[in-house]
Order: sequence, then structure tokens, then C-alpha cells
Amino acid sequence: MKRAVLCLLPLLAVACGAEFAPRPLGASHCELNGGAVWAYSDSPGLNCEAMAGALEAAITRLEAAGVGSRAELEEAFTGIAIQVKPGIRFDMDGPVTGFYDGDKRTVIVTSDGSGLLHELLHCWENSQGVDGSGKHPQWQEKGYVTLDVLFGQKSWPLL
Ligand SMILES: [Zn+2]
Repeated sequence: MKRAVLCLLPLLAVACGAEFAPRPLGASHCELNGGAVWAYSDSPGLNCEAMAGALEAAITRLEAAGVGSRAELEEAFTGIAIQVKPGIRFDMDGPVTGFYDGDKRTVIVTSDGSGLLHELLHCWENSQGVDGSGKHPQWQEKGYVTLDVLFGQKSWPLL
């Protein structure tokens, strides 16, 4: 008599927090915030120390401005990927130094990192369920425009 053997693989129960963005290796990459954040570039030589410094500076400024507590901000940014792309410029209402893809949870910034805080604000608003973040709703009133401009005055040597 033939016995059919049914093999059941136990399904792993994975504790799911925030959804993690794809983590391309690129030509260079870094793990930041204890692995919560991934950064990569298709160009070699991503400067992980500068990348970590820019991320830390952005979180510190957002916290100091009362956007959210450090824990809330770090939770919102857990699982994102930051792609550093030299030379990108989007022409909207002026030079734009970054982009946030909410579906992929990926922030794209130029190699000077000046747009990082701005894009993290979009990520934050997405985590808070703000509608139409791409249109920067009440960013002037909330002080986000000022935060963005001040952060953008510093240049980070990401590549
Ligand atoms: Zn924006």
C-alpha cells in the first residue's frame, strides 16, 4: 500500500512591524540605526559615516521641532531605504533635491543629502496617515518649510 506523505512546513510567524523597503546592494551600501534603515547607491563609495550623520541630524532636528518624539520618528523610519543618486534634480517649483516613493518606502536624495529631512517629512506624514503629503499641506504653518530650508543649508559628503 502506498502512503502519501504530506509534508507540512511550519509557517514561520514573523513579527511584522513596519514594512521593509527592498534593500538593493547597489555599488555601495550601509546599514543605519542598527539595521532599521538601509542606504545604498549605484555609485561606489557611499560614505556611511556621513550618511549616518545626515540621518541623525535630520531626526534630531525633527525631534527638537516637536514633529514627533525620537521613538516615534525612529519607528516611522524603520524599514525605509535611502538611495543616494548623484546629480538628480527634479524641476517642480524650483530645484528639488530628493523624492519619496511611499509605495517602495524609499527616499531618494542627491549626493549632498540636502533634501533628506524634506523627504523624511513625507515618510513621517505617510506614517501618520496625512493625505496628499506630496502637496506639502500646511508645511508653512507647521514650520516644515523652515526646517527643510535650514537643513538644506548644510551639505553632506554622501558620495
Ligand atoms: Zn516634497
